[in-house]
Amino acid sequence: MNKLISLNINQLVQCYKTKSVDPKDVTKLCLDLSHRYKHLNYFISRCDEQAAEQAQQSSERWQKGKPMGELDGIPIAVKDNFCVKGLPTTCASRMLENFVPSYNATPFNRLNDAGAVFMGKTNLDEFSMGSGAVDSIFGPTKNVWRSDDGHIAGGSSGGSAVAVASGSCFAALGSDTGGSVRNPASYCGLIGLKPTYGLVSRHGLIPLVNSMDVPAILTRTVDDCVAILNTIAGPDSNDATCMRKRYSQIELSDVDDISMKNIRIGIPKEYHCNGLAKEVLDTWIKIADILEDGGANVVDISLPNTESSIFVYTILNQSEVSSNMARYDGIEYGYRTKEWSSTEQFFAINRQIGFNSVLKNRILCGNYFLLSKNFEKYYLKALKVRRAIRNDFDSVFHNKDKTQNVDLILTPTTLSDAPLYSDFTKNSNRDQCAVQDYCTQAANMAGIPAIAIPIRLSDRGLPLSLQLMGPRNSEKQLLTAAKWIENQVNFPFFQFLEGN
Ligand code: GLN
Repeated sequence: MNKLISLNINQLVQCYKTKSVDPKDVTKLCLDLSHRYKHLNYFISRCDEQAAEQAQQSSERWQKGKPMGELDGIPIAVKDNFCVKGLPTTCASRMLENFVPSYNATPFNRLNDAGAVFMGKTNLDEFSMGSGAVDSIFGPTKNVWRSDDGHIAGGSSGGSAVAVASGSCFAALGSDTGGSVRNPASYCGLIGLKPTYGLVSRHGLIPLVNSMDVPAILTRTVDDCVAILNTIAGPDSNDATCMRKRYSQIELSDVDDISMKNIRIGIPKEYHCNGLAKEVLDTWIKIADILEDGGANVVDISLPNTESSIFVYTILNQSEVSSNMARYDGIEYGYRTKEWSSTEQFFAINRQIGFNSVLKNRILCGNYFLLSKNFEKYYLKALKVRRAIRNDFDSVFHNKDKTQNVDLILTPTTLSDAPLYSDFTKNSNRDQCAVQDYCTQAANMAGIPAIAIPIRLSDRGLPLSLQLMGPRNSEKQLLTAAKWIENQVNFPFFQFLEGN
């Protein structure tokens, strides 16, 4: 294994600074790996030549001691639902197959301005609706850990996850509306951070559910995740839902200086649910014990509305989807048929051919929920339960009785390791999401930050992951605890690359 791949972003930047490593060599290594693992189908658009060119320019800047920013010469990838000027942004859908945006999404712009080398755009479930990266017009993405056996990568940001896990880049952007970054992070053995809603601009991210969408980060280490977050977070006048407050850069202590003493960690009993694999449960208990041994105060808590959350998420998701998808009619955006005899037929054919069955299903359900006769019964009621779910979190994070408060919540990320494609696709998209998103989507409804942390390998040799959730804007504390756990578990990520 080339040892460059085992360095983290900060170490690489240090090496660039002292000229002991050249960005061209790092980019070349990532390009080589991305060709070696090409069959896993994780890139939709590749930028091999531009990446080599960018690395050359980065190399010249470092030679002159004038880097563009904190990520100069670091290879990254971006999910194909972020607009990148001049490149197709397909959302893995026939509807947007030929859409080429004329502007950059804000998070991509910021990575670009910091000098990152852009490797390409990654595969996803159509319009990010799914949990497997299996429903794409470009075909499914495969998991890098046991690709020959056909395990899924997770989704919807599965392409970004495999790009990072295979060593084809050091970090990738995904989007997380109900778990789409944490789920593939779990299945591919990565750190997956869903920041607080509004901390990172959504400008240029093709919307799925505006009230829950968050640009999110996939990396191999917590420190790398911090480097990316520090680059992309902060106010943006192009996104009215983005926080106005200045973002303060996060600096984590050295791991030896991090202590879990007196940190209160909540274990919600509702996450001990049907279908939770024994290996995941054991891992959860083990890490709770390790935290306790490290001085943390681990306490049982209850988030009583968790069980309603899948239903509420489904209603809200489909309602917002039906409204967001209305713009794709073949006039302003989207697939355009050449043969039609009336305006109605023109729209109908475009939407019939442009969308897959998952989308059509969600649009129909969403329209039903939003009918004036149903609005109160479904949509409004779902909003009320969403508030109750949010209140559950507030009551454990911000209780008036401060002695009852916890700082963080520890849960599984997914109920098992990565399923086989053949098992996963036996179920409908809706059933898949009900199982896959059980532990992840409540954080989106509450707008709180959450992070997936790889812990160990299952008996089948696939990654197992746990999730930490924290109060809104608690990223520093969340990432600090994640770094402490990362150090305790020493996940065998690089062993996997050596074995390949
Ligand atoms: N699986 C969920 C869905 O399909 C979450 C998707 C996401 O986070 N983008 O809606």
